[in-house]
Amino acid sequence: MYPVRLWSVRHARGLQRAYRWFAAHAPRLAPLLRRLGPRRGEALLYPIERTLKRFLFDCQECGQCVLSQTGMACPMNCPKQMRNGPCGGVRPDGNCEVDPGMRCVWVEALEGRRRIHAGGEAGAAPVLPAVDARRRGRSTWITVIHGEPEPVVTAVPVGTSRPERAVESFEAACRSGRSVVTVEVAPPDSADPADLLARAARFKGLVDAINITDGAGGNCHMSSVAAAALLAANGYVPVYQTVCRDRNRIAIQGDLLGAAALGVRNVLCLTGDDVTRGDHPEARPVFDLDAVTLLGIARGMCERGEFASGRRLLAAPEFFLGATVNPFVPPRDDRIANLEQKIAAGARFIQTQFCFDVPMFERFMAEVRRRGLHQRAFILAGTGTLASARALRWMAQNVPGVYVPAELLRRIEAAADQKAEAMRACIETVQALAGIEGVAGVHLMGHRNEDVLAEVIVESGLAMRVRPS
Ligand code: SF4
Repeated sequence: MYPVRLWSVRHARGLQRAYRWFAAHAPRLAPLLRRLGPRRGEALLYPIERTLKRFLFDCQECGQCVLSQTGMACPMNCPKQMRNGPCGGVRPDGNCEVDPGMRCVWVEALEGRRRIHAGGEAGAAPVLPAVDARRRGRSTWITVIHGEPEPVVTAVPVGTSRPERAVESFEAACRSGRSVVTVEVAPPDSADPADLLARAARFKGLVDAINITDGAGGNCHMSSVAAAALLAANGYVPVYQTVCRDRNRIAIQGDLLGAAALGVRNVLCLTGDDVTRGDHPEARPVFDLDAVTLLGIARGMCERGEFASGRRLLAAPEFFLGATVNPFVPPRDDRIANLEQKIAAGARFIQTQFCFDVPMFERFMAEVRRRGLHQRAFILAGTGTLASARALRWMAQNVPGVYVPAELLRRIEAAADQKAEAMRACIETVQALAGIEGVAGVHLMGHRNEDVLAEVIVESGLAMRVRPS
């Protein structure tokens, strides 16, 4: 079926017209359906809908069809079930992180959207709600016949519903006008907090916040909510990373409340890496939500004081919410739209994937500034250092979403002391990134490389640097 699916995206404009015609005329069938009754009506209609959509779109029968908003590409063919734009792991050739033989569904979807809007403005991508599992295997045509609107979340404009609140230290640092520094620490494979606290201690006085990863790379470690709470209890400012891969919306919201109760204020919402790359490749991925829908839910908990279900909370959490963006992999031209979606959904700070190519990031930031996105969220440029050209090459080949330019590899390969040269390159990158207009700071990553990262922060003179405005 796969080639037919690509044909449908190539003919998205014609199919969209056909769908509009159907949506305009379908309500005429409503009286007939009412006479048949809902069960008999669906039993009659659904086999036709399913056969047609399976043939044309490889439809996965989510029961909440959004094809007209996703360029006629069914987002449920995405192994991570992304409903709101691509994940950060798209391969350089535009193929899927999880299934390298398949074109990324969102690369297709964005092409389809462009085709539909050929000659006109595609407009901001809509924020689509998470799938309602009860509707799986049900007819969408019935809802069109009854004239029900398509599922789109209208984003609440920033600032209209946010209550006044005390600004926590990481948010205050972002607002201070100097370049902020955050660093990533993976929780230990241990029931003893000593290792985590020893590694965090390396950054005391050097960073504004410490990110605690959540099963990075699909590997099992101490839970990020527990590790973030341990840091908060010991005087650090944690950024609690939470992924959609391992928990459904019930578990995630429970963890968010638990994190808030334990003093965690900063939350980075992520979709999560593919499980098959980690140490439990046989595990079942969840992906009940994607990062955009998770942001919307967390924002609703803070601003409306309610769960996604609408049930009231006794006390609402106060989170400074963040998200990620990867400007370095396809579909590069559409990464801005995805960033805009995340900001509309509730992200107030953004951390990027590893940046090894400053000119590429400068081009991305020029577009961010043109759209004023740096005024709606604090953009932290991600980077880091590795010990050798071999490690860097391995990362480029094996870590989804990481782009390493050939010149950087050549430079480190040619050096007599590769580790020192990699660190020099990292310091130069950090300084260049912090100097870009609209960049609020730098986010440093490096697996169990705390000493080198601490040295990079000191040597780059980042801690006291005033941000270019
Ligand atoms: S690359 Fe990511 S967004 Fe694209 S189809 Fe694969 S998992 Fe989905």
